[in-house]
Amino acid sequence: MAGMLYLVPTPIGNLGDVSQRARETLEQADFIAAEDTRVSLKLLNHLGIKKSLVSYYEHNKAFKGDKIVQRILDGETCALVSDAGSPAISDPGEDLVKQCAAAGIPVCAIPGPCAAITALSISGQSTGRFCFEGFLSTAKKSRREHLESLKGEQRTMIFYEAPHKLANTLEDLRDVFGPDRGISLCRELTKLHEEVIRTTLDGALALYAETPPKGEFVLIVAGAPEEVQESASPEDAATRVAQLMAQGLSRKDAVKQTAQELGLPKNTVYEAALKAEEDQ
Ligand code: SAM
Repeated sequence: MAGMLYLVPTPIGNLGDVSQRARETLEQADFIAAEDTRVSLKLLNHLGIKKSLVSYYEHNKAFKGDKIVQRILDGETCALVSDAGSPAISDPGEDLVKQCAAAGIPVCAIPGPCAAITALSISGQSTGRFCFEGFLSTAKKSRREHLESLKGEQRTMIFYEAPHKLANTLEDLRDVFGPDRGISLCRELTKLHEEVIRTTLDGALALYAETPPKGEFVLIVAGAPEEVQESASPEDAATRVAQLMAQGLSRKDAVKQTAQELGLPKNTVYEAALKAEEDQ
């Protein structure tokens, strides 16, 4: 009879967050598959658990996945852990779950720490409807394309981000969603220096221009306001820019003010204004 795959969440900072059930599952599993065996060994030592560990990470998952699936089909139970948080959420566990599901192996998720949900719940942003966007690409072009595809997104958006990429990401978020869009920067959750900064995209950029970001971040970005979706089109933007220019504002200032009034990115307003001028 086939065994079972257990997804066991581990702390995202505070070691006290290992649940009783997570601990028991680790104790009872035949073996543990870990993203980084050195990281997981520290946790197991802390919990006083001695267990056979195999590595399962991004660059060996194709090959290791088959072996793990075979062991489970032969009757063993496997507990999957990632470096931190819930396995399969923005880490390689996703593929092992797919493989097990395809092989008819039962998969059981133990609920527990997850950076995305922890951040969302304390963000102060709307939590009724949200979407998880994981990590943005490190390549500027794909990052911008990803964000452009979210331009009209009205649900609260959750992003994971590394500190050294934060400044570039904030700039792109500001350019696409506008300077006044709300953001909650949730940093070092459950750790000693846990912090939630609730500000705007411009505010966040100003803040980190002075103090370089440190630690792990989840970004919770407010969705697009409903009225902007319904009312502001590029044509509206072009008309408003023309009005403001007729009142004596420079094109640059008219674009800036229109973008703020209509909640549109400056680029969009600028392009709409240029197109309207060319079409005349
Ligand atoms: N599977 C994990 C989970 O359930 O949260 C996420 C793994 S993902 C590879 C790692 C990312 O999660 C980090 O880059 C950061 O964005 C976020 N993260 C993890 N721990 C965090 C913490 N203590 N505070 C803030 N963000 C954290």
